[in-house]
Amino acid sequence: MKQISIMNENDLIYSFARAHVIQTSSLIALMMPQTFGAGIAVKTMDGRYKLVNQVMQSYFNKTFEQFTSSTDADLFPAEVVAQLQQSDVQIMEGATTSSDQLDCLVDGRSIQCLWFKFPVRGPDGELQFIGAAMLDTARLGNIDKLQKSLEQLQHTNQELQKNLAELSTLASTDRLTGAWNRRRLEEALVSEMDRLKRYDHPLSMLILDIDFFKKVNDVYGHIVGDQVLVTLAKVLQSNLRASDTLTRWGGEEFVVLCPDTILGTVTMLAERLRENVAKAPFSEVGQVTISVGVAECMVDEAWEDWFKRADAALYRAKEGGRNQVQIAPQAPERDGADKNMTANLVRLSWHATYECGNSVIDEQHRGLFADANNLLGAVLSARPEAEVAEQVNTLVTDVVLHFKAEEGIIRAAGYPGADAHAAIHSALVDKAVRLVKHFHEGTLSIGELFQFLARDVVARHMLGADREFFAYLQPKPKF
Ligand code: GH3
Ligand code: MG
Ligand code: MG
Repeated sequence: MKQISIMNENDLIYSFARAHVIQTSSLIALMMPQTFGAGIAVKTMDGRYKLVNQVMQSYFNKTFEQFTSSTDADLFPAEVVAQLQQSDVQIMEGATTSSDQLDCLVDGRSIQCLWFKFPVRGPDGELQFIGAAMLDTARLGNIDKLQKSLEQLQHTNQELQKNLAELSTLASTDRLTGAWNRRRLEEALVSEMDRLKRYDHPLSMLILDIDFFKKVNDVYGHIVGDQVLVTLAKVLQSNLRASDTLTRWGGEEFVVLCPDTILGTVTMLAERLRENVAKAPFSEVGQVTISVGVAECMVDEAWEDWFKRADAALYRAKEGGRNQVQIAPQAPERDGADKNMTANLVRLSWHATYECGNSVIDEQHRGLFADANNLLGAVLSARPEAEVAEQVNTLVTDVVLHFKAEEGIIRAAGYPGADAHAAIHSALVDKAVRLVKHFHEGTLSIGELFQFLARDVVARHMLGADREFFAYLQPKPKF
């Protein structure tokens, strides 16, 4: 698999973004009509001006290009630079505005001017640029005008931020498929890997690559090849949960990042993606298949190592004949006590936040987590069929018992949605019974059954619908 240097691609994206930022100068010029008389400039955190409007250019008698390669040191005497820097610092420290009254020697004339600084934040709230508005006090006339200027400035700032937000979406998605690009993935990885480190939230990924894609291009041409990529991205997206993200990693390689997902679950997701891609119609081309490598991130593992493991699994999937999923082996450290390594890796971990405060319900919820873990352990360590079937049976029986007990408790607690909740239970049980039957008849894979039992019934229902009655069960405060 070819490895494109991440730095290079980022550089390209950033320069693309820069090109767009520069175009917003015309927008700013429009928003700030000459009659208003405010010079507007935006500089990057390293002090270089990026945008200036025409008023500002005329104050300094510089062209856009001359201005945008300047810093304050090129424009002002040292003492003014020092003063301007102080207000920059205030903005960097979180102030929403700061102002300076300066006597500036601008283009040979001494003028008294007001400088207002304001932060320009990106969509994630981070300070991206420092904005400045320069007003010639002689031209201001009265304070009403100043007030109006500030309001307009506020408006400018909002417009600019909106513009930057759009720009950031452009710079973070792949234009052909609409999937995230590498830069966006790398941003997400920082916080997701932090959640893994700090709170032990599991984190998994899969890498997939189209099989024999070169042939598609050779036979049908590049445009049809591009269309295949677009359709593939659609099929993949429609099979992902809201929290999973799709990134176009390179040409015909995609990465799916799955927060809060253990190895067993991501393996089943990979299998589902593979199946659905193979089934999907790719108009002119007919069938397209993908090979997939999956890996769960280990605590303290670097992104590069984690990626390498997933990539190696993908390589094995190619070697093994393509149109298949391969799992990256995991180092055994994650939960030392258990000897069954595979079972270890896929444990659904219980968190204190899952507790509702009612000891019976909490105990049963934990029990269901354990049942799901046991079933997954049996599946992944390839236990005999009868053993797996028994684990399925235990899980389903415990679910039914638990639902009954929970319905009694929430009714007694006066939860107004008790009937509706019981109806959800009943639908889940009906479906479970149906799927188990299909499983025994051999028409449903254990993967699909597990997906429903563990994910939909145990994890999703408990962490979703159940939350609505939590408030009714909390022990009442005593006074
Ligand atoms: P394998 O099963 O081993 O992955 O075979 P392959 O032919 O898919 O593998 P290889 O990686 O050698 O070829 C990938 C091809 O994907 C080469 C390149 O022409 C094509 N490709 C990469 N990016 C794009 C794109 O954006 N559009 C089109 N149409 N083709 C692309
Ligand atoms: Mg390839
Ligand atoms: Mg390929």
